[in-house]
Amino acid sequence: MEFAFSDRLKRLPPYPFADLRRKIAAAREKGVKVISLGIGDPDQPTPDEVVKELIRTVADPADANRHRYGCDVPVAQYARSVRDFYTRRYGVTLGEDQVVTTSGSKDAIAQLPTAVMNAGDIGIATTPGYPTYNIGHIFSGANTYFLPLDAKNDFLPGLDSIPSDALRVARVLWINYPNNPTTAVAPMDFFRRAVEFGRKHRIIIAHDSAYSENTYDGYKAPSILQVDGADDTAVEFFSLSKAFNMTGWRAGALVGNASVVKALRTVKENIDNGVLRGIQFAAAKALDMAEKLTPAVNAIYQRRRDMVVEALNANGWRIAKPRATIYIWAPVPEKYARMEKPALAFATDLLEKAGVAVTPGPAFGEKGEGFFRISLSYPDDILKQAMDRIFEMKK
Ligand SMILES: *Cc1c(COP(=O)(O)O)cnc(C)c1O
Repeated sequence: MEFAFSDRLKRLPPYPFADLRRKIAAAREKGVKVISLGIGDPDQPTPDEVVKELIRTVADPADANRHRYGCDVPVAQYARSVRDFYTRRYGVTLGEDQVVTTSGSKDAIAQLPTAVMNAGDIGIATTPGYPTYNIGHIFSGANTYFLPLDAKNDFLPGLDSIPSDALRVARVLWINYPNNPTTAVAPMDFFRRAVEFGRKHRIIIAHDSAYSENTYDGYKAPSILQVDGADDTAVEFFSLSKAFNMTGWRAGALVGNASVVKALRTVKENIDNGVLRGIQFAAAKALDMAEKLTPAVNAIYQRRRDMVVEALNANGWRIAKPRATIYIWAPVPEKYARMEKPALAFATDLLEKAGVAVTPGPAFGEKGEGFFRISLSYPDDILKQAMDRIFEMKK
């Protein structure tokens, strides 16, 4: 028996590069050793100290609750460690009612609309941008107003350009800095304007800070909660995934505006059962040791970033080294820029002529056209090989 999908599932945008995916599979089938630089998922292991804390706590017979539902017997230390981290790192004091533990951040991002949006409401997300904001809206029967990010505005959205009829029914504005996929960072002044915008229009400012700790050259990304009065209107999705090489662990937190935190907590209490206590203990450990652990994680990305940007620039690109994230966001070469679908044309050529797979910009929305994204979450020698192949292809 075959059952039909729900209307909500049918509203999901189709994956735009199914064809490219097929070509990658076909090339591999033919024996081409395709190097994929597509996914943002750390290749480096989780720090030993964190792994050991998981093993220690999960094996500790003194913790009679170690096997139980993480939501019913939460590890108090985890929420404390999140709050301590925010104090040390940003000078932000969070009340106990301003933190809810999440399973990473993607789930929570997709669940927030369930907590705060109704069918017909609008959520504002950027294009290009992380696809999950729009998907969360769709699952709530809501719609997305796509706000463009342009290189000429340093990939910061123009909040004044949102039409008033969209603003009237808008419930949430999603922002994400350091940004995936554009690698842009936001100055405090942008966060100030976002908070002001949220207050003026009574809109939740939902800041996705997935890459707040993946920064280079001494740059430190700010938290939106550093803005005076930000918790009037703003929440921040914090995740340990990219900061500590912990994507598979599922550890994060939503912090900020207490009413939104409470609303998400209510949704979560009704649909998930929390994170294993051992993971909460280990995540607390990671946060407590952040100052020691994140520089080692970032040193590797910074080295790869330098290698990839220098290789691209030696081949005719003119890219500045990004100060954050684990990606390189680059325009397609001039000769593709005039084609009908420049990003797809370039990605297809790169695959077929060099055996290198990158993510075409439109995977992140219409305004990603003309760009491609390379992930630095691959070993140095793989990245180096990929750069050599691109160089060969350009000859
Ligand atoms: C990776 C990523 C996330 C989600 O990661 P989790 O593992 O779910 O915490 C969220 N937002 C952006 C922009 C990301 O790139």
